[in-house]
Amino acid sequence: MPSTSLVWLRDDLRLADNPALRAALDRDDPVTVLYVLDEESPGIRPLGGAARWWLHHSLSSLAERLAERGGTLVLRRGPATREVRKAVTDASATAVFWNRRYGGPERAIDADLKASLRADGVEAASFAASVLFEPWTVQTGTGTHFSVYSPFWRACLNQPAPRPPLPEPREIPGPRHPIASDDLDDWGLLPTHPDWAGGLRETWEPGEPAARRRLREFLDDDLDGYGTARDQPAAGATSLLSPRLRWGEVSPYTVWHEAVDSGRAGKFLSELGWREFAWHTLFHFPDLATKNLRREFDAFPWPRLKPSHLEAWQRGRTGVALVDAGMRQLWHTGYMHNRVRMVTASFLVKNLLIDWRHGEEWFWDTLVDADGANNAFNWQWVAGSGADAAPYFRVFNPELQAKKFDADGHYVREWAPEHLTENPPEPIVDLGESRKAALAAYDVVKGAARA
Ligand code: FAD
Repeated sequence: MPSTSLVWLRDDLRLADNPALRAALDRDDPVTVLYVLDEESPGIRPLGGAARWWLHHSLSSLAERLAERGGTLVLRRGPATREVRKAVTDASATAVFWNRRYGGPERAIDADLKASLRADGVEAASFAASVLFEPWTVQTGTGTHFSVYSPFWRACLNQPAPRPPLPEPREIPGPRHPIASDDLDDWGLLPTHPDWAGGLRETWEPGEPAARRRLREFLDDDLDGYGTARDQPAAGATSLLSPRLRWGEVSPYTVWHEAVDSGRAGKFLSELGWREFAWHTLFHFPDLATKNLRREFDAFPWPRLKPSHLEAWQRGRTGVALVDAGMRQLWHTGYMHNRVRMVTASFLVKNLLIDWRHGEEWFWDTLVDADGANNAFNWQWVAGSGADAAPYFRVFNPELQAKKFDADGHYVREWAPEHLTENPPEPIVDLGESRKAALAAYDVVKGAARA
């Protein structure tokens, strides 16, 4: 039996700039490409509905592209350690390669697997591919991790520049007898009863080719105006790369270098920097999605949850124009503009006084870019309990935000037009009164911080 290599793909569903795939191809052996749907390993968070939809289509596109180059995609479902070891045995693989992940449970799985494969005499190697600056390479002068963005990003920029992206392989020779694979359709990743994914289908085309096209289009058409228009939700001025980066259909190295080569990257690079900072934070604080980063926030006096308020927020029926528009954009498309994410999140936490974890969970289920680091990181940033969240007691006024960033009402007209009629809906809470209540609650946190 000829020796074979196994490439285990995870959040890196691409052929270009894929160091694990490159390492396997460099061995000149047939390559088995494996994806494992792991919903069982301890600590692994099951994907939300919108993410499952994206994954289905991205895997389907990847399988096609592999087939065009002579390869096959093998799908297995179950705890990753068990399934990868099984695939190694089935394929008689002598080497396994993957790109690194940075969440706590994911790192534990990968470390265990690496050790056990090596103990069995199987080569196992991992690579940096989904962040530009791996968390342990960026440290403060005293050797600790960063908790404020600006010095973090300065330290990153003082590092050697991110490596250039690797070219896309033309041929990916699979083994003569591919090992057994699940059928993607049997995984049931797509919604059926009801099929709520119509808006997602209208909005997105998952897969590497579309991701690369979108990057080019953004750099050619939108980058110049990005710095000024990026905060306007109706301007269509941002890259829409977040789901593509989340699933690794395009690598941050490719995005970085193509943006830098355009000579106009400016503000855009610092947004990539926020993504790096979120992963840096998650690496050092693996409980980011469930525990307050700033422990004094444990004293926050959350009132008893009003389910009707949470549901009004989820459905975009709060009676507050920009909040309703944002929540409906999210429900329909699996995406929400960043400025509106901040406003809707602030409204949930600070006007409805609902714990940020409820909002994080809703976004986790409904965003196509829902991401282990970015989602929790940003929710905590808005709530004030997170990294670099000062002034943590800031309360966005959704009406002023709408005046400033959606002055002509294009965005609200598209998603929540009843707000622009003569009889707009009434807000479910008084914005001024609820703001006062929030500030009083934040005073408790301030007191806890002093104590
Ligand atoms: P662009 O403006 O074109 O930015 C380019 C890239 O930079 C993005 O694709 C993203 O990868 C990164 N980026 C930009 N802003 C941020 C940020 N604040 N934090 C981290 N990375 C950033 N982003 C996610 O990718 N996944 C999430 O689950 C997520 N949840 C969020 C929840 C809340 C409450 C908030 C306020 C923000 C959240 N974000 C999340 C960050 C941000 O809203 C999205 O990354 C951005 O809207 C994606 O649109 P874009 O690709 O057009 O962004």
